[in-house]
Amino acid sequence: MSLPPLVEPAADLSVDEVRRYSRHLIIPDVGVAGQKRLKNARVLCVGAGGLGSPALMYLAAAGVGTLGIVEFDTVDESNLQRQIIHGQSDIGRPKAESARDSVLEINPYVNVVLHNEALTNDNVMEIFAQYDLIIDGTDNFATRYMVNDAAVLLGKPYVWGSIYRFDGQASVFWAEHGPCYRCLYPEPPPPGMVPSCAEGGVLGVLCASIGAIQVTEAIKLLTGVGETLLGRLMVYDALEMEYRKIKLRKDPNCAICGENPTVTGLIDYDDFCGAVSDEAQAATVGSTITAQELKDWQDSGKPIDLIDVREPAEWEIVRIPGARLVPKGEFLNGNALADLPQDRQIVLHCKSGVRSAEALAAVKAAGFKDAVHVQGGVVSWVKTVDPSLPIY
Ligand SMILES: [Zn+2]
Repeated sequence: MSLPPLVEPAADLSVDEVRRYSRHLIIPDVGVAGQKRLKNARVLCVGAGGLGSPALMYLAAAGVGTLGIVEFDTVDESNLQRQIIHGQSDIGRPKAESARDSVLEINPYVNVVLHNEALTNDNVMEIFAQYDLIIDGTDNFATRYMVNDAAVLLGKPYVWGSIYRFDGQASVFWAEHGPCYRCLYPEPPPPGMVPSCAEGGVLGVLCASIGAIQVTEAIKLLTGVGETLLGRLMVYDALEMEYRKIKLRKDPNCAICGENPTVTGLIDYDDFCGAVSDEAQAATVGSTITAQELKDWQDSGKPIDLIDVREPAEWEIVRIPGARLVPKGEFLNGNALADLPQDRQIVLHCKSGVRSAEALAAVKAAGFKDAVHVQGGVVSWVKTVDPSLPIY
């Protein structure tokens, strides 16, 4: 989609800048005006890893005036196979600082702003507000949904990319003019379904292919030239050496940019994406039953205290017969522990099995070693035991 330039031109270019950017300046569609827009632009890169490396280096070389870097990690030897903004001597250094040094070596006229911290609900709005455009180079679903929602809430465009083994995807999301990430992916994949690059690997040079698309789209958005990937998904297959474009539509039922949004502020993204804490993970080992096993226990007459740890609004939508509602927070603050029975089997459940795992950790820590939780929660119950119930 063709869009007006995101950024107004800077007042002027210095003689040194004219010399440096001459190959841009003689492209008619860029010219002095386009280069002045790049100089005035403020671009934030979320992550200085696989995608952030080529993105930051080419954005710097292109003359983007202000580059923000959000990154809390340090450089590890296993990063160097693809994260080319860092070098051997940077191992152990904060990635944000290493990336800044490389950017300034490429182009000393760039103003680099470091956000040497993890992006969280507490800082994402304030950080994003300082920039015209965001480049999403994150590698996990919780952060991706947070980036999307913050961008939608602030009305900012962003360029998204993702990589895995030989496959890459990229698009531009901007809810004011087209679809957002949730229009494409309304629900995160179940935890453990989609391996990360750390688990499944990634061809290093794939980062360059997708990172280059992201920078290209960024420059087009900033200067207002060409047709951007807004409303289109680029899918790259390195093995077949094939690029495909898929048309994307804005989803009228999108949870955040649709006609009746249910997401009107930032949410708990770890919970949404099913990230389980180490304690919760440990608590579920040997203490997990399926929805069908719960049904079998109920049918057999086994004495059970079935506790739904969701929130009241969710309880109103659908509930498992025989359950009582005690929201997860009551277990985490300890209030619910005194009311737990000693003479019955304690079974916890939630919607998907994430919150019940956290509650289970607290219950087992309080001495109820036989307590269990239901894998997949209400969703699994509806799918495997009673399909007549609604899933939300
Ligand atoms: Zn949307």
